[in-house]
Amino acid sequence: AQEPDAFSDVLVIGGGQAGLSAAYFLQRFGLGDRYQLLDHSPRPGGAWQFRWPTLTLSGTNRVHDLPGYGLGEAVGIDRGEFPASSVVPEYFAKYENRFGLRVHRPVDVRSVERDGDGFRVTLGGRLRGREISARTLINATGTWERPFIPHIPGAADFRGRQLHTHDYTGPEDFAGQRVLVVGAGISAVQLLIEIARRAPGVQTFWCSRTEPRFDSNPFSPDLGREAVARVERRVRAGLPPTSVVSVTGLAVTPTIEAAQRDGILDNWRPMFTRITETGVCWDCTGGAGGNGSARGSSSAVAAGEQLDVDVIFWNTGFRSALDHLSPLHLRGPGGGIVMTGRLATTVADDPRVQLLGYGPSASTIGANRAGREAARNVAEILDAQP
Ligand code: FAD
Repeated sequence: AQEPDAFSDVLVIGGGQAGLSAAYFLQRFGLGDRYQLLDHSPRPGGAWQFRWPTLTLSGTNRVHDLPGYGLGEAVGIDRGEFPASSVVPEYFAKYENRFGLRVHRPVDVRSVERDGDGFRVTLGGRLRGREISARTLINATGTWERPFIPHIPGAADFRGRQLHTHDYTGPEDFAGQRVLVVGAGISAVQLLIEIARRAPGVQTFWCSRTEPRFDSNPFSPDLGREAVARVERRVRAGLPPTSVVSVTGLAVTPTIEAAQRDGILDNWRPMFTRITETGVCWDCTGGAGGNGSARGSSSAVAAGEQLDVDVIFWNTGFRSALDHLSPLHLRGPGGGIVMTGRLATTVADDPRVQLLGYGPSASTIGANRAGREAARNVAEILDAQP
């Protein structure tokens, strides 16, 4: 593959939904030969190429069409039961080819520093140590590579297996085990149901910090807009973003309804306070769990109660993968980055930096729109003629 040039007016980092949308609009806004896109994954598809094989397109919230060439047109409309990890990469690959997007892969961006009027971008991986100077940046590195696990005392003592959504490969691994699923989001619920139904002899348990909120009203566009607006207000105020889905509640799908009927979701308990060698416990002290072993299924938890499990499966979300931008010191006192601009894609302290997939644009439709906005903003800075 052709290697990236040492200079770029616009450097797009990350080639998932957001990065490809930005590249498409950069071409539309007259910057077709003034940008390059770097992505360190081996193949097209962004984070979708890494998602677990049992996640089908119909099991997703919806993968929104990229601008100008829809998923149906590119790969056919009847692919609902196919793994998202193969259909979406196939779609993105066709998309890149169709529009001749200037994607360089695999190219890892290790760090970005300010340098004169622009930025010095240092590469890692196979191009370790090479530098690119860039006048503007569109960062679209997503969240997949920053799985988040909350700190709970005793985690290092646990002798069983701990894994995160990021590392899930399917239900078979859990046959015959006692599995504690942690989290109250879509992944937690989907994977809890999948494991309970498809791992022979498994026993499942479920904990989360906040009680899961099921919403049987169909998800409405108004509700979606309100959720996005709330996340947007946070990032404009410089607070760390919450995920868009965390503010909408869980829509009751037929799969969830059936699981409720079959008692799979009955086993919820509030968050444990300590991890022990053999499981978790509530309001216990020290490494041992206290008295009594909560091997039953009641959701009321007494202080000192312990639950023995073989696996703790963290479905506790992701954070923005922004480590490479840390030399820019973008985070403010609120713990987040103060964002501005029409769709809150612009870093308030440095408008030459656009962040996509951060806050309100962290969904496939949000990423899409943000791509256009970011391309327009850098076109304005560079004074390009559409
Ligand atoms: P990504 O798809 O993560 O792309 C980021 C790209 O940046 C990757 O290709 C990566 O290799 C590259 N990269 C990262 N760091 C670097 C670096 N330093 N140097 C070079 N390249 C780098 N949203 C929905 O709207 N619908 C859904 O159904 C849905 N399901 C989801 C399921 C899961 C399990 C998760 C975790 C998220 C889901 N989301 C969903 C949210 C989803 O993350 C976004 O919708 C969207 O796919 C993110 O696109 P993106 O372009 O921002 O990031």
